[in-house]
Amino acid sequence: MPLTTIQKRARRKYLTYPFIFSLIEVANSPMKKAYWNTYHCCKDVWYNKEVSDRYLAKYCKNKWCLVCASIRTAQLINAYKPVLETWKEKSFLTLTVKNCSELELRKKLKEMNKIFYAGIELGRKRKGIFVKCVKKMECTYSETRKDYHPHFHVVTETKEQAEFILDYWLKHFEKEEVNELAQKVLPASDGSMVELFKYFTKIITKGKIIPPENLNAIFCAIKGMHTVRPYGFSVALPDDPDEIVFDVEAIELKENEYLPHFGWEQDLHDWLSHRTGEMLSGYEPSKKAVAWTKQFEEKFSKLRE
Ligand SMILES: [Zn+2]
Repeated sequence: MPLTTIQKRARRKYLTYPFIFSLIEVANSPMKKAYWNTYHCCKDVWYNKEVSDRYLAKYCKNKWCLVCASIRTAQLINAYKPVLETWKEKSFLTLTVKNCSELELRKKLKEMNKIFYAGIELGRKRKGIFVKCVKKMECTYSETRKDYHPHFHVVTETKEQAEFILDYWLKHFEKEEVNELAQKVLPASDGSMVELFKYFTKIITKGKIIPPENLNAIFCAIKGMHTVRPYGFSVALPDDPDEIVFDVEAIELKENEYLPHFGWEQDLHDWLSHRTGEMLSGYEPSKKAVAWTKQFEEKFSKLRE
């Protein structure tokens, strides 16, 4: 049976929970407060089906939160799909630079952004090439090389636009900085477009969890940066239909009366009403989901030893 909306949220909350503790544990991270916000994300839910079919909760909106990232992905697809579907010759461009160290990462990403934007500006002002594209910033970590791989995935309106950006990219980075063979222009399908809006960074690569210290380094480096950006056009991002401006006072007044409170219980993989003992979603984790959380719990306890 397919999961209901609230069961899907329970699943993502369940999966985020052990992983966020591993990030909170990273010593001296300037992101600690933001990680705690994710711990609190959807921790409390108010719901009464007789009053409304909506679930009231507060969301953290952080990139690493699996609950919020999936909401964001759905919003991005809804917003961009109608535009990108009209691009009949769209291309998928990958732009990379040489792997770098943690210390260089933020500077490198800024430089990549600068060069990308300069290329688009040159096309528009001097060459009569009006690039329309969506750019997504990604970064992965190489466990074997102990370094970071920042890169861009770009969907452009036409192949000509993709080739123009690529050409500019290759000219403006040092030869040893960009490997020409690593840059690619491919025809883009609607599937590759959906892929574009998925999570910023994969928490797992090749079946192994990225160490929390390295994930933290990536999140610090991209702080305040847009991961997905349109160029040459704009889109309006819709509001999440399930998200409600959080009015604590109203909730406190109504609680017990109309909107009973449910609190997240990781061991029960659900939100529980302490008043009635009722569970909110009825979500049952799959074996895979349990294995995922165990993997983090083991890693987490290893870190503590
Ligand atoms: Zn969240």
